[in-house]
Amino acid sequence: MVSRDFETLNKLRLDRAGYLSSRYPASREILSFFIELVTLQKKIVNQLDQWDSLIDHRDPFLKLVAEKGPPELRNAGKRIDKLYLDTLLDKYWKQVDTSSSESFFARVLLQPYLIKTGVQRGSNSPNKCPSCGHFPQVGVLRPEGDGMKLTLVCSLCLKEWSFPRGYCPACQESEEKKRSYFKTTEFKHFQLEVCETCHIYLHTVDLDKDPKAIPEVDELTALPLDIWAQQRGYRKLQVNLAGI
Ligand SMILES: [Zn+2]
Ligand SMILES: [Zn+2]
Repeated sequence: MVSRDFETLNKLRLDRAGYLSSRYPASREILSFFIELVTLQKKIVNQLDQWDSLIDHRDPFLKLVAEKGPPELRNAGKRIDKLYLDTLLDKYWKQVDTSSSESFFARVLLQPYLIKTGVQRGSNSPNKCPSCGHFPQVGVLRPEGDGMKLTLVCSLCLKEWSFPRGYCPACQESEEKKRSYFKTTEFKHFQLEVCETCHIYLHTVDLDKDPKAIPEVDELTALPLDIWAQQRGYRKLQVNLAGI
């Protein structure tokens, strides 16, 4: 399992988001919102020590979303008082709701909390985070020996763990003809994995093609691939911070 401290991780995420904004103009808007979110997470991380204190960060967070967030999140933010935020945190943690636009608010606060406190609620399921039990956001391929090793990055606490290649990360289908891989010239370091058994897809970032990629940040730029997959009836295993 790969672990990175939050400060180092944030620096890597911010630097990469800045670079990708210039490289992929179509993703500039979402990446600059992402930069604001990470900056906010950096600010509040020192004051996050207990679960109960998470809702105290509601006001600056909602203000940021109201000023710089996409319309869907701005609307969702209007409905969120402290009591409701507390419910959303609980629902996200228990995986009752990890995909609605409202769940976004819980996720942004839970992320630094989990990374800082190291609260464990791991899963024995190989396709779920061994630390917090949530589904992966993105896969990572790294050269190892003569081949490539696959790891998955947690959608919530960002931990990375090994996962055997050739299995669907959603339903663990292993039959080769049920699984397809797609690549495009525009996103050379991306591979889209699709499963015909569960109709779920996941992006995988190939670090051999771009060693500087930060998978959970690069994944935000893959919108054209998401549209392609979703138009064909596939669903993403876990929506990203942009709600895609
Ligand atoms: Zn996790
Ligand atoms: Zn599957």
